[in-house]
Amino acid sequence: MTTPPNLHFTTQIVHADRWGGAEKGAIHQPIHSSVQYGYDKVEDLIAVFQGTAKGGFNYARQGTPTTAALESKITQMEGGVGTIAFSTGMAALCAVFLTLLKAGDHMVASKFVFGNTNSVFGTLADLGIEVTTVDATDLAQVQAAVRPNTRMVFVETIANPGTQIPDLEGIGALCRDKGLLYVVDNTVASPYAFRPATVGAGLVMNSLTKSIGGHGDALGGAITDTGLFDWSGYPNIFPAYRKGDPKGWGLQQVRKKGLRDMGGTLSSHSAHQLAVGAETLALRMERTSATALALAQWLQQHPAVAQVNYPLLPSHPQYERARKHLRVGSWLLSFELKDPAQCLPLCNRLRLPINATGLADTRTLIIPVAHTIFWEAGPEVRAQMGIGDGMIRLSVGLEDLQDLQADFAQALQG
Ligand SMILES: *Cc1c(COP(=O)(O)O)cnc(C)c1O
Repeated sequence: MTTPPNLHFTTQIVHADRWGGAEKGAIHQPIHSSVQYGYDKVEDLIAVFQGTAKGGFNYARQGTPTTAALESKITQMEGGVGTIAFSTGMAALCAVFLTLLKAGDHMVASKFVFGNTNSVFGTLADLGIEVTTVDATDLAQVQAAVRPNTRMVFVETIANPGTQIPDLEGIGALCRDKGLLYVVDNTVASPYAFRPATVGAGLVMNSLTKSIGGHGDALGGAITDTGLFDWSGYPNIFPAYRKGDPKGWGLQQVRKKGLRDMGGTLSSHSAHQLAVGAETLALRMERTSATALALAQWLQQHPAVAQVNYPLLPSHPQYERARKHLRVGSWLLSFELKDPAQCLPLCNRLRLPINATGLADTRTLIIPVAHTIFWEAGPEVRAQMGIGDGMIRLSVGLEDLQDLQADFAQALQG
């Protein structure tokens, strides 16, 4: 069945499986657990190996019909041309960096990135790939860091935990001018709040573990090609993949080198859980964003709170940018207490938010940032990133606002 044109976000996603070709009438994509895929005629197997049979499967490390259905859903969400699913968000990011950059290359990245991504930058440096991190909310800093050997610019849409928003549009224009690959980690915003393709990103990464899966019960990651980057001029495409339409070269290399060779494959079972979660992305983003904004406004006027970071607060340094680009503000907010010594007691006094790392679960999660996720980074990096000892990160869940607010009121009173 062909997809009716001009459908809105959720309509398209909840019907995506059957328009992709329902098996035996199943309206949800079945879970394919077979590792091997066999063919009556050996020529058909050869066609899958040689890539002439489109959509064929041979070995589950390179994907199954279940992971392919999820990939197709994410491509539709991001308005892209193709997606590769991985076992985790970090596997997806490493696949991009390690298959599209070589020793001697340079990358410009936002200094406001996920801690583990920052740790990967250190690994890249040891492999001869230099990364310069800058305050990407300021286009001039990104511009000044570009060198003749720069290949890639990497930013997060809404940075964790400080909620900084880079100059998404300005960086897109810069990358287009200089022929640089623009890679956007869209995990916190999700394709419901923002599509990086609208600002010229070439590749979009989503940790499916977070917004898209949304239930804290399965890990996954995805790389989506928006179709906007001209791969024919990219020097790091291996000769074997410089065949056919250049539009497919980049993603093919990431699939062959990053998924088939490196093996960070998503299981069909996880793909199924993530696909079911994906169906309610818009509902969850609307609900958690509304609660997060109301809570942010309430915390901001509380006498014990020094500062609240949330993109849709007028006091946010990139408020205008957030209003322009984001449909909703997402579930991530962080705040600083006036008295950093109250940080741990506050976490312990709260009854609803759970002391836990992780993001975008159905339950609200809370974590003191300096003591945990940014502990390994050390005090110098924390200071550079504006992370004080009293910073607390919240991932707002589906609970009712009144209950969360009452809990914070009792906990902040001490
Ligand atoms: C969680 C996260 C990742 C890594 O995703 P995993 O699925 O946990 O490996 C990458 N980037 C951002 C912004 C994240 O929040």
